[in-house]
Amino acid sequence: MHDPTRAVDPGPARPDTSDWTWVLVRPCPQCGYDSGHVLPIGVPQIVRDAATRYAAVLGRMDVAVRPGEGVWSPLEYACHVRDVCDVMRGRLERILAGDGTTPVELDNWDQDATAVEKQYWRADPGQVAVELQDAFEAAAAAFATPHRAQWSWSAVRSDGAMFTVETLAKYFVHDLVHHLWDVQG
Ligand SMILES: [Zn+2]
Repeated sequence: MHDPTRAVDPGPARPDTSDWTWVLVRPCPQCGYDSGHVLPIGVPQIVRDAATRYAAVLGRMDVAVRPGEGVWSPLEYACHVRDVCDVMRGRLERILAGDGTTPVELDNWDQDATAVEKQYWRADPGQVAVELQDAFEAAAAAFATPHRAQWSWSAVRSDGAMFTVETLAKYFVHDLVHHLWDVQG
């Protein structure tokens, strides 16, 4: 059983520096996600279904065990997707706070730096389960709010990648689904 008070820092995992925006144009060969089959209206349900599956993962006895050198444990992945929900909800809210005519600039988010800073490896699985549920529900509710025309409102990430509300939603849910594949959840 994972005891957060006795956990030993395993060091940073290998950083993920890939640009995952290609999942918006072709199916993911690893998790099978196909953004072409995802409708904006279906996004909240995908988020809520993923929350249920992560909750089950967090109940595992070995949730804090890394499966290999430099690879996050399921617990660390759960912390990551919890934070992804907050970041993506924040991005959505920023776009919707604009007027839809000029692309909104989105701040960069360094997921690997966040993992180190927040010490994901020493998290308490029970506490993460509560936080994850709240974060997923807030994100699901937020992605249920855009009106029809707002799905095409746009934003530009600090690395130059362009998103609309719709592609941001599709990019976001791929992250949740892909990490379930990572943890076999
Ligand atoms: Zn994938």
